[in-house]
Amino acid sequence: METRYLTSEDVRTAADLLRRGGLVGIPTETVYGLGANGLDPEAVKRIFEAKGRPQDNPLILHVPSADWLERYCRDVPPEAYALTDRFWPGPLTLILPRREMVPDVVTAGLDTVGMRCPDHPVTRAILEAAEVPVAAPSGNTSGRPSPTTAEHMREDMDGKIEAIVDGGPCRVGVESTIVDLTVSPPRLLRPGGVTLEELEEVLGEVAVDSAVRRLMRDGERPRAPGMKYRHYAPKAPVTVLTGDPEKGAAYLAEHAGPRDGIICFHEYCARLTGGERVVLDLGPAEDKGEQARRVFDALRSFDHTRVPAIWAQCPDAAGLGLAVANRLNKAAGFHIVELI
Ligand code: AMP
Ligand code: MG
Repeated sequence: METRYLTSEDVRTAADLLRRGGLVGIPTETVYGLGANGLDPEAVKRIFEAKGRPQDNPLILHVPSADWLERYCRDVPPEAYALTDRFWPGPLTLILPRREMVPDVVTAGLDTVGMRCPDHPVTRAILEAAEVPVAAPSGNTSGRPSPTTAEHMREDMDGKIEAIVDGGPCRVGVESTIVDLTVSPPRLLRPGGVTLEELEEVLGEVAVDSAVRRLMRDGERPRAPGMKYRHYAPKAPVTVLTGDPEKGAAYLAEHAGPRDGIICFHEYCARLTGGERVVLDLGPAEDKGEQARRVFDALRSFDHTRVPAIWAQCPDAAGLGLAVANRLNKAAGFHIVELI
């Protein structure tokens, strides 16, 4: 299949491709998504094939506004609208009870569905024009780091899907926050662009699923099927350094090999560069927004090198740090060196 490369001018073309059962790479503020008509089971099945995604990992339905929630969800609680009023369009996915009309292939057979209204002008225009909800996971090959540019999407999906729409680099850079509103208290299933602290301002108490901070144990049943899979991983093994960044840099100076890859805070790049090391800048130690924007590009870019091992400095869990740390820890299979 020849993949077409579309621009922000081609909203109508992208919407028509989706309506006719095609797969389209769509830009969002979080990461690029791989979209299909969410009411067309055959089209949605092709998402799983193109990504090599396990069938039991459900997708998120993308809609142009909160007015669409009742079409696909029932028993929508007032908290849902409190959240959409504050955070939509934006990087927040709500898990709600689904209506029968949502195809099983979208929800992987669950009786809940993930709903999101993305904050990207081109994709919102595509959703409006398509007049269908668009089912989409991140646009990467399953297991690889999520795409944050149209070029990343091309790397993984060229020749496999009908089109990719270039909407520029993603403004947030990590996926949406997922909060389950079908349990009490509401539960954070995935940290993302909306912080835990922001959710708590609206919801009060929010439980944090244990899979956010550690590896699932054998036999443990995940609340969200996606939680059990290895994720975001470059080919070389990753070790994460948490704790005091100064101590982390000192540890790396001593322990990183001469050909290893390093993702470090901006402040330490010069100090850690040397030999054939590949050193990538995660952004300033205090700028978690920048770290979120860069983390997937950094992880992904090592696959164009021959580094035998990768080390990554990791921010603390406050604010967007929880999402950045979660992606790095998953890429590392929770292989963490803690420096206190
Ligand atoms: P991705 O953004 O590529 O990770 O794909 C969508 C994410 O949403 C996956 O992590 C899914 O596990 C999660 N998700 C989608 N629907 C549900 C649901 N009904 N319940 C829990 N998690 C969900
Ligand atoms: Mg994904």
